[in-house]
Amino acid sequence: RLVVVGSLNMDLSVTVPRLPAPGETVSGADVIRGAGGKGANQAVAAARLGARVRMVGLLGDDAFGSELRSCLATEGVDDRAVAELPGAASGLALIVVQHDGENTITLSPGANHHLDTATLATLTDGLLAAPTDTVLLQLEVPLPTVLAAARTARAAGALTVLNAAPRPEPGPLLAELLREVDVLVVNETEATGLLGIQHRPGADTGLETWAERAEQLRALGPATVVITLGALGALAAGPLHRHHQPGFPVHAVDTVGAGDAFCAQLSIALGAGVALPQALRRACAAGARAATRVGAQSSLPTRAEVDALLAA
Ligand code: ADP
Repeated sequence: RLVVVGSLNMDLSVTVPRLPAPGETVSGADVIRGAGGKGANQAVAAARLGARVRMVGLLGDDAFGSELRSCLATEGVDDRAVAELPGAASGLALIVVQHDGENTITLSPGANHHLDTATLATLTDGLLAAPTDTVLLQLEVPLPTVLAAARTARAAGALTVLNAAPRPEPGPLLAELLREVDVLVVNETEATGLLGIQHRPGADTGLETWAERAEQLRALGPATVVITLGALGALAAGPLHRHHQPGFPVHAVDTVGAGDAFCAQLSIALGAGVALPQALRRACAAGARAATRVGAQSSLPTRAEVDALLAA
């Protein structure tokens, strides 16, 4: 079983001819509403990929909250450890997209920011995970809660996976968290952020440099480090394996959701005892498949779709 502790958001997205300047009003297309939040996205991704999934998190007691809960239920995610916080608003992302893809996002974390360690313990009755479980974490809920979840999971004997996204600020709590997780998954920006290196987007960094960075990240605690490289696939460093998996050649239209599908698939495979190179290959297939469709949760592939890409 996979246990995801993390965020749930409603994403409201409007496409406009050009992004409004401060003080300006711009009319756009009809609003597109979609369930989001890295936690919920990864939980739904895992369910579509065939895993038994339990989500732990907080919603507001508003209409978006009920809608987000029914999205989880529809996907077959166990939502018994998801609660509505009285008086709180659900997490919300206001996304404005220019026709060329340039966008601005305003995030209101809402109830997600109220997921403290006491609430985590209450929601899970003090039983976050069993020894055979895998616990998947991201950084859209308070850091002390993520740390508590990692500690509880490890103490229970579960495999702990951290997707250190969005890019975190380095600090003592984060350093502690890295010592409490078994597997760390990061993209290029997050990897350099954790190492305190300047990342120039679009910089032509070679695979050898990424491999060195993966080793530097391993020195911070996680036995296994995976760096995702977009169309170039992903690179993994573990106690037994150093491996680069090239990206699957797909017609990518929107990479939103690719990272979430990747994290879910990697966690499921490693949790099932699949060796790192094979788990990485499956995860890259899941990420690539998600990149071929528009949207966050709407783009997440099923197990059959990943199998088909692997067999192609
Ligand atoms: P993030 O969106 O978190 O920055 P990436 O862009 O690195 O993450 O994507 C996650 C994974 O999804 C990659 O490791 C890769 O396997 C797959 N992926 C993403 N974009 C593409 C693409 N254009 N072609 C093939 N695979 C892709």
